[in-house]
Amino acid sequence: MPSYDVIVVGAGPAGAILSYELSREGMSVLLLEKEKLPRYKCCAGGVTAHCAALLDLDASDTVEDTIYSAGVTYKFKDEYVGRSERPLAYMVMRSNFDNLLVEKAREKGTTIIDECRVMGLRMEDDGVTVMAERGRFHARVVAGADGPYSAVARSLGIRVGTDGGPSTAAIEAEVAISAAEMEKHRATVSLDLGCIPGDYAWTFPKREHLSIGIGCSSPQSKKLKRQFGKFLATQRLGDYAITKFSGHLMPIRGVKSPLQQGRVLLLGDAAGLIDPLSGEGIYYAIWSAHLAAPVIRNFLDSSPGDDIDLRDYALRVESEIMPELEAAYLASRIFKRFPFLTFKALQKDERVWRGCTRLICGETSYSAIRKSLGGWGKIAALLSRGKR
Ligand SMILES: Cc1cc2nc3c(=O)[nH]c(=O)nc-3n(C[C@H](O)[C@H](O)[C@H](O)COP(=O)(O)OP(=O)(O)OC[C@H]3O[C@@H](n4cnc5c(N)ncnc54)[C@H](O)[C@@H]3O)c2cc1C
Repeated sequence: MPSYDVIVVGAGPAGAILSYELSREGMSVLLLEKEKLPRYKCCAGGVTAHCAALLDLDASDTVEDTIYSAGVTYKFKDEYVGRSERPLAYMVMRSNFDNLLVEKAREKGTTIIDECRVMGLRMEDDGVTVMAERGRFHARVVAGADGPYSAVARSLGIRVGTDGGPSTAAIEAEVAISAAEMEKHRATVSLDLGCIPGDYAWTFPKREHLSIGIGCSSPQSKKLKRQFGKFLATQRLGDYAITKFSGHLMPIRGVKSPLQQGRVLLLGDAAGLIDPLSGEGIYYAIWSAHLAAPVIRNFLDSSPGDDIDLRDYALRVESEIMPELEAAYLASRIFKRFPFLTFKALQKDERVWRGCTRLICGETSYSAIRKSLGGWGKIAALLSRGKR
C-alpha cells in the first residue's frame, strides 16, 4: 500500500495550502480530491484584503476584478454606497484560484490524485489507512479538508453543523450579461440586507459575468429561491443568461465540535470554520492550514517518548480562530435580530462603514471590536444566549 507522511483530503484552499506548506518542508504528501481538477466550486469568489494578506503566494493572475466600493440596499431599496481608497476584495473564480494553489503544492512535491473520492478511514497504531475510490493509502497523519460534507469528519463520527452549530445555506448563479452592462458593475459589489431577515444577497463582478447569490440560516431556506428572483430583478442586468445555478450548505462549527482525533485533523469548512455573519470561509480555511502545518511537522519530527501529539492544532484553533468566530457570531445575532437598524446605522454613521472596511482589510478584528464595545458587547452576548 502506498505510504505517505500526510494524506490531505480535499483540494480546496485549506487542503491545497496545507499540502503546499508540508511539501515545502520536505514531507511526503498525497492530496486526494473527488472531482476532476480544476473543479467548479459554488462560491461568490470574494477574497477579502485580509485573506489576500494571509496568502503568502502570488495569486494575482486569477483576479478578475478588484473591489473598491459596495452598494448596499435594504429590502431592495434605499441604496447606501460605501467607498474605499484601498482594495477591499479580489474577485476570483474558484476553479482558477484553487487550481493555482493546487499547482503550487504540486511544484513543491505534493502527489495529487483527482477523481478519487475518500470513503472512510481506518485508525491504526502507526497511522491511518484511507479508503478511496482508487485504492487504499496509508499515512502517519490525515488532514480532512474536504469541505462542508466532510467524509473525514463523518468517519470520526462528527457531523459539523448538526452538532449545535447553526447552519447556513446559500444558492448562487453565474450570470452572463453584456459588456456594456458589465461596466456598471466594475470594482463594486452590491448587497441587499433584509431580503431574508438577518441574511443578505450579493452581486460580485467577475471578468465577463456576475456571481449573484443569496444566503440564509437553514430554517428559512424555503424562501431562498423566491428572494433570489426578486434580488436578480433589481440588479440592472439588461438581457442575461444564467450559465450555472447551484446551492451549498455552510455548516458553522458548534463550540464543542472536535477539530482533531488521534492522527486526524479537520480544517476549513470540514471543521465548520466559517464566518457566521458574512459567510467568508476562504480566510479561515487558509488560516487553519497555517496552524496545522507546524503542528504536523513537530509531530512527525518527534520520537515516541517526546509526548508530542496533534492536540496542539485544536488548542491553537480554539485560542486563535475561535475568538474571532465567536465575536462574529455575536455580530450575526445582532444583525439577524435588527437588520433594519443595522442598515440605518450604516447609512447614518460613517464610522460603521469605516469599521467594516478596517475589518475587511485586517486593520481590526471582530474580537477587538467586541472588546471596544464594552457593555454593549455584554448586551449582544445576552441576545445570543441559549443559541450556542
Ligand atoms: C454560495 C457560497 C458563496 C461563498 N462565497 C464566499 C466568498 O465570497 N468568500 C469566501 O471567503 N468564502 C465564501 N464561501 C465559503 C467558501 O466557499 C468556503 O468556506 C471555502 O471553500 C472553504 O474551503 P475548504 O478548503 O475548507 O473547502 P472546499 O473549498 O469546499 O474544498 C473541499 C474540497 O474537498 C473535496 N471533497 C469533498 N469530499 C471529498 C471526498 N470524500 N474525497 C475527496 N475529496 C472530497 C471537494 O470536491 C472540494 O474540492 C461561500 C460559500 C458558498 C456556499
